[in-house]
Amino acid sequence: MINFRLDRFLTLYLFRHITKKQTSADDKRIPILMYHSISDEKEKSHPYYHVNTSPAVFDAHMSYLHEKNYSVINLQDLKKSFDARDSTKCVVLTFDDGFYDFFTNAFSILKKYNFSATVFLPTGFIHNERLSFKGKECMTWNEVRHVQSKGINFGSHTVTHLQLNNLSTKEIENEIKLSKNKIEDETGIMVESFSYPYAFPENKEFGITLRTLLKKCGYTNGVTTKIGTANNGDDTFFQPRLPVNTADDILFFEAKLQGSYDWLNKPQIFIKRFK
Ligand SMILES: [Zn+2]
Repeated sequence: MINFRLDRFLTLYLFRHITKKQTSADDKRIPILMYHSISDEKEKSHPYYHVNTSPAVFDAHMSYLHEKNYSVINLQDLKKSFDARDSTKCVVLTFDDGFYDFFTNAFSILKKYNFSATVFLPTGFIHNERLSFKGKECMTWNEVRHVQSKGINFGSHTVTHLQLNNLSTKEIENEIKLSKNKIEDETGIMVESFSYPYAFPENKEFGITLRTLLKKCGYTNGVTTKIGTANNGDDTFFQPRLPVNTADDILFFEAKLQGSYDWLNKPQIFIKRFK
């Protein structure tokens, strides 16, 4: 009973039936999927909190997108895709934390379907030698450069992966500026995307400060852990994503892509306020 998924139950048996189907290009929604580790490692917590996706499940997800003719686009092209006002089904693939298993497990599966993705690096844990973050090995700069030469994009996930809203403005600026500079120095490619670590604080003032800093440092877009599919009205710097892991069987995965998981955004805000 401990693993009962109330969110899955409500998504599949209630919200899937009442989610408004997209009727025009104006209400186009684009799912931005949030993966972390692609590995078979088991996790002890409730499946809602899991961050591992087994390679077999990940392959099944990519195969589904391929079969259903989803067009995998990059974060930078999101706005263009909304403005195109066509009915192409688009999806964005993102990976947080820069784990080594992106290189060993995810990359070959992405290549099989000719899909691109954006990987967000906490640069303090990416080195020439292998370092670990949260007990898991991270990619090295050589591996970053290798997959980048094959079409993978990189964004910043700060330097030290701290809760930014606990830091001073100067410290936040350093986290977002130094990580961007480091990735650009190591890859020679401009970094435009930022991924906010941990839960995104529902604090207007903090959002304004962070947006100003991101713009100042040259970012053009960003993603968060706020749950939902993205639409044209979202703040480009703090776009919602859909968390995905091994527990996402195809039925649940499909419901998430179709926007039937978006309802969870409101309870998520509510819980954050009371924590
Ligand atoms: Zn992270």
